[in-house]
Amino acid sequence: MNLSANEQLTSKDAITLEDKYGAHNYHPLPVVIAEGKGAKVWDVEGKEYFDFLSAYSAVNQGHCHPKIVNALTEQAQKLTLVSRAFYSDALGSYEKYITEYFGYDKVLPMNTGAEGDETALKLCRRWAYDKKGIAPDQAKIIVCANNFHGRTITVISMSTDPDSKAGFGPYTPGFEIIPYNDLPALEKALEDPNVAGFLVEPIQGEAGVVVPEEGYLSKAYAMCKAKNVLFIADEVQTGIARTGKILACDHEGVRPDVLILGKALSGGVYPVSAVLADDEVMLTIKPGQHGSTFGGNPVAAKVAVAALEVVKEENLADRAEKMGELFRNELNKIDSEMIELVRGKGLLNAIVIKPKGDKTAMDVCLKMAENGLLAKPTHDHIIRFAPPLVITEEQLMEAVEIIKKSILSF
Ligand code: PLP
Repeated sequence: MNLSANEQLTSKDAITLEDKYGAHNYHPLPVVIAEGKGAKVWDVEGKEYFDFLSAYSAVNQGHCHPKIVNALTEQAQKLTLVSRAFYSDALGSYEKYITEYFGYDKVLPMNTGAEGDETALKLCRRWAYDKKGIAPDQAKIIVCANNFHGRTITVISMSTDPDSKAGFGPYTPGFEIIPYNDLPALEKALEDPNVAGFLVEPIQGEAGVVVPEEGYLSKAYAMCKAKNVLFIADEVQTGIARTGKILACDHEGVRPDVLILGKALSGGVYPVSAVLADDEVMLTIKPGQHGSTFGGNPVAAKVAVAALEVVKEENLADRAEKMGELFRNELNKIDSEMIELVRGKGLLNAIVIKPKGDKTAMDVCLKMAENGLLAKPTHDHIIRFAPPLVITEEQLMEAVEIIKKSILSF
């Protein structure tokens, strides 16, 4: 292949380049996307698809939302980065906006979800030593089996997924893993006075959209409170209207002590993550003890404000609730023995696929791509469906027809 920088690549060329020059740490579907708008994307040959992954729920506001892109381009022409060695004229107003939006005293801005989780873990340990009075280096954090919090060494130390974890040791100590959606296990783990925090996804997204029983979050929260343990919610995937409320914890009226956000905090336009907490927790970290060159940069700040405004202006939480209900109803009507189960909340949904002969969830995804809809299997037999929340009812019904046609073709 001999391509000049401006030459239009074919899908085959682009895949060959990624294969040859990129690390093989992903296994993408063979679709090369070149453009996106709202709930749709187009490949380099111009074929149109519904995007039912939304970059793992980062593009809740729809691809290339004009208001968010505008915030990015305007700020990018003025000032992009100062680092936190100086103040910027964009950060303070963003911090005021996001803390009022979610109702916390303070925010600590980072870039990726995994960094958000790392930040929350550091905050929790620091609070444990400075406020709870746990002896140095003894703090424990409870996490759940089948969690997904990212890919750093400490984050995979909490993982139970061999693909994420195996072969990367030694691991960070200080975590206790209990089953998800298991209150007696949590109660038992909380008996240890060295427990400082409980880190939980309100719905386990990467595990295959595993929705806990109603009451799990509120009871877990109450149990943590009774033991003076921080309830830390990783809403990187579930937050920002995805599940039909601004936060998935809102379904049970739970206000986490520490809240981790990422992905759709920028509408998928820029890497922006954030950790929110009140002063008692947040002010335990002092200058020099945590940070990031890019965290809270002026572009990120403007983009995040625009992305959060769009969520309110376009009522995305209500839309997700309504469209999600419709989507699950329609999926449940598909008469196929390959569909074992449909589950989810708002527009974070999944079907559990029962393989038919040698046909698996991956074959269903390849067929859906052929028919104009992109989704990806998670854990071999589960397909997650998470379209941008701006999808219209008409588009959703069109997408349902594609899913139906694809599954029934086997
Ligand atoms: N936490 C949750 C719940 C996630 O779903 C993800 C990514 O899928 C992460 C953290 C990690 O985010 P990032 O890939 O931006 O590091």
